[in-house]
Amino acid sequence: MSYDPSPPSGYRQASAGGGLLRLLLGNPRVLIALGLVVFAFIQYSASTIKQENPFTGDTITVKKMTPEEETALGLQSVPEMAQQFGGQIRDTRITNKINEIGYRLLQAKERIVTKRGKQEDEYDYEFQFHVLADEKTINAFALPGGQVFITMALLSKLPNEDAVAGVLGHEIGHVLARHSVQQMAKSGLLSGLVNAAVVATSDGTRNNSQIAQMVGQVLQTKYGREAESQSDRIGIQLMLEAGYKPEALLDVMQVLADSMKGGGRPPEILSTHPFPETRARQIEVYVDFFRKNGTEARWKG
Ligand SMILES: [Zn+2]
Repeated sequence: MSYDPSPPSGYRQASAGGGLLRLLLGNPRVLIALGLVVFAFIQYSASTIKQENPFTGDTITVKKMTPEEETALGLQSVPEMAQQFGGQIRDTRITNKINEIGYRLLQAKERIVTKRGKQEDEYDYEFQFHVLADEKTINAFALPGGQVFITMALLSKLPNEDAVAGVLGHEIGHVLARHSVQQMAKSGLLSGLVNAAVVATSDGTRNNSQIAQMVGQVLQTKYGREAESQSDRIGIQLMLEAGYKPEALLDVMQVLADSMKGGGRPPEILSTHPFPETRARQIEVYVDFFRKNGTEARWKG
């Protein structure tokens, strides 16, 4: 996408009215920002497209954003998102283990793609797994394009490796189903701004905290129940294919539900679901379905 952020010639002269206005408009950063806002308005109506998600087979409405742009958006937001939860831990025993589990799930994803007769996944996201030092906030979440996070608070409560795989699988599910990009498409103006921010950063004018803020806003708007169920299903497919026990997802839900008894903001995985009964039953149905039909099957709900 080509976009020239510089204002039309004569713009500054014509608006040189008040002192403050002149000062603001004389600032190239303000001009770029204004340009981006205008750009966002223009782009926003025409910037969503319908397409088939190659992994889920769904027809989805998404931001007109390539997987590369999505990846860039997520990557730029890593430091700020990490900072909100105590930064990334340095204990390589833990980070290596998390990477190992994450990669095992991703290899399973590749096998599922192969079983479906495709050479490789059309969305080749570069996944990265991050463990955050926060020991109080129980949470896990994913940024667009494959940045997956889990807090120490949650990790320390999970009973075994299968449960960790349950959390990571669910978050990988959000990325593969492109839920955040669909969210951006729904959220109107915000989507244009995020897109504009990506364009701006590709010119070298980085403003990571602003981008992280916008990405954070997208994350805070709930994906919705169907998206959460879809992430559960993808997580289950990956776990089964990777040789993990998918029932461990039920343990995860119980850990999360227990942690919510004191009140507070629910962790991402619980954000839209009532627990335990309804979701537990649902998870059992999904596990049965993929055991019977194979991990490469597509869910017909
Ligand atoms: Zn979720």
